[in-house]
Parts: sequence; structure tokens; C-alpha cells
Amino acid sequence: MNKLEKYANLMLREGVNLQKGQPLLLTGYVENYDFVRLVTEQAYLAGASEVYVRWVDEVGARLRYLHGAEELFENYPEFQRLMFEHYNDRDACYLHIVASNPEALKGASPERLQKWNITSSKALKFHTDKTMSGAFAWCVAAAPNKEWAKKVFPELSEKEGMDKLWDAILQCSRVNNDDPISAWREHARVAAKRAEFLTNAQFRSLRFTNSIGSDFTLTLPDNHIWQGGSEKTLDGRTFSANIPTEEIFTAPHRLGTNGRVAASMPLVYQGDLIENIVLDFKDGRVVDYKASKNEALLKNLIETDEGSHYLGEVALVPHDSPISQLGILFYETLFDENASCHLAVGQAYPTCVKGAAELDDEKKKELGLNVSYEHADFMIGTPDLQIMGTKADGTNIQIFKDGNFAI
Ligand code: ZN
Ligand code: ZN
Repeated sequence: MNKLEKYANLMLREGVNLQKGQPLLLTGYVENYDFVRLVTEQAYLAGASEVYVRWVDEVGARLRYLHGAEELFENYPEFQRLMFEHYNDRDACYLHIVASNPEALKGASPERLQKWNITSSKALKFHTDKTMSGAFAWCVAAAPNKEWAKKVFPELSEKEGMDKLWDAILQCSRVNNDDPISAWREHARVAAKRAEFLTNAQFRSLRFTNSIGSDFTLTLPDNHIWQGGSEKTLDGRTFSANIPTEEIFTAPHRLGTNGRVAASMPLVYQGDLIENIVLDFKDGRVVDYKASKNEALLKNLIETDEGSHYLGEVALVPHDSPISQLGILFYETLFDENASCHLAVGQAYPTCVKGAAELDDEKKKELGLNVSYEHADFMIGTPDLQIMGTKADGTNIQIFKDGNFAI
């Protein structure tokens, strides 16, 4: 097997844990047709009953925003909703290979972007809810494209940039290794151990401070669960939702965050970059926000719905993580979130509170889990980040010292 075949098999075996006779819904970008075909072949060889490729064309999407009729952004096509229903009914698994140009939708109207975001989120809520509660196995991984490589390595030629981005992706995914599957499992085992330690500690609150202006405290719900490495579907199948992954994450209590959060990296959102995000929280809710670039997109993000004013995820990633050590700003959340501690505004993963996965939205909220159509990670980690945990009995334990785990 060559490296790309090994990578495809890591996605299929450890990512979505494809079963013999199971359909695979594969989302791929048109720029990556050759790699997507390679994954398709490997999936059939691994026993998939069907590989259905959902092609993404970001250039075409931009043209639609620029020139399409207004009603396109107000109505979700029924046949597309039925496609998800069709594969949900057939117990499919879902693999998404991102190859995103960070500025793909530059110049599109923020109003249209927002309209479509809300229209599609509402129509696909049934599918997103199943995804986030682990009803089926799913995985997001990546492959490079020219525009993306140019953004990450502007000083290199197109060919050199593509080669370097492939190398970085394969290295972060532990494919630069004789036996990527064993390396991945060992990595997942170590992450699960750390998550278990934090779950057992049941911290009441965490206080984050650093020199770029973050100083905030968040509280954690009763019976919260920290997750890391691989996960399990509701019926017990192991899968890895992200390749790569370095994070240990849980859900903060939706009403418990107070203070100022300063983002440490630009955020790619709705096809463009938001820079220098600052959010102020009071009793869990964003009461003020600003950004130095594309503040209109930040407004779209925060004002998606009521739930997007609250946090749905807190994730710990040490500054010495292998992805962080590469020192590359990827402009892609899948990688940047694994180089930095981060938060997400919007929907919480219900698997982060014991017994919450199959509850309805109202019951989730009662337990402290946030509910929203949105879920967007943004980075807050720095080399001088300190995190102090406080337990129910008032004991303080330093969790992060100078950007790395202290426990
Ligand atoms: Zn995360
Ligand atoms: Zn997230």
C-alpha cells in the first residue's frame, strides 16, 4: 500500500469504521477528484455496499451566491434532504474530505450567506442531531488543493506548496509511519486516559488567563464527560470523528461563562477570514463582540440564533501538540483546532453529559447543554495560557501551565 492508500484506509477503518455491506456517503471536493476516487476504490475493497460521492464545488457555490436568484437561499431542496434521509435509513457512515479554500466565498453577500446557513441548518437538523449524538459513525479528514496550499505557503511554488501541505496533513494524521492504524490507536488510547482523568475530577469551574486578553471563567455541568481520541456510536461502534485529533473536549454549562475571550488565530467562517475576535460573556451569553476584519461575518456567527450566543464546547490542546509544533497556520479548523485550546459557540455535543444523548432539546438545556443550529470552533490557546480548575469543595488545581497540561 502506498501512503495515500494507507491514509484512505485510516479514514475508512479508524475514521468511519466502515462495516462490510455498509453504504458510505462520501463528501469530496471537485479539485480532489483523483484522491476521492482512490478513497472510493479503497472503500469498495473494504466491503462497502455503495459509495455515493457528494461533490462540493466551491467555485460554483460562489457563483451561486453572486448571481443566483434570492429564493435559492430561502428554500432547501427537498431532494437533497431526502438524500440524507435515504442514507440515514440505510445505516450508512459518513466521510467528509475537506479541501477548503479559506477565502472561497470572498465577496458573497453576508445576508445571503446567513440566509442559506439558517435555511440549510433547519432542513438538516435531524441529520446534525444524529451526528452529534453519535447515532452513526462519521469522520472529517482533509486533502489539499492549490488555493488552500497557496494561502498556507504563499512563498512556495504551486507544486512545492501542494507537496508540503500533503506532507503536513499526512504527518499530523500519523500516516508518516509504517503502521498508521496502530499509531492512531495508541494515540487514541493516551487521549482517552487523559479525558478519563478529567472526567473523574469533575471540576466545577475552569478559569482561563493569558497575555492576549483572555480572562474568563466557565462552569461545567453535573456529570460532564471529557472525550478524546476515538468515540463510540450509540450502538457501540468505535469511530474517530476527526483525523487528525489532539483535543480533549467537553461541554461548558451554557449559563456559566463570564469574562473576556480573545481568539488567538483567525477563524475561517462562511468562506472568509475573521480576524482578532474578542467576545465578552455574562452568565453564559455573549453580550459584546468585535473583530478587526470581517466583523459582519462574526455578526452572522453570533446572531445565527439565540443558542449561538452561548458556548457549546471547551477543548484542551497542549501547545506542545505535534500539530502545534509544526508551526503552520492552516486556515482550516480541522487542523488549527488541534494546535490550540478552543471554544465553540453553538450546539453542544450531548454525549458530553451522562445520559443526555437521546433527550430532547428542552431537557438538554435543563442539564446545561447548549442548543443551536450553529457549532463553530475558534482558537484561544497561546504559549502562556494558564487554566485553573476549581472542584466542588473549593480545591484549586492547575490544569494548564504556560500553554501545556500541568496534570
Ligand atoms: Zn473541538
Ligand atoms: Zn467543535
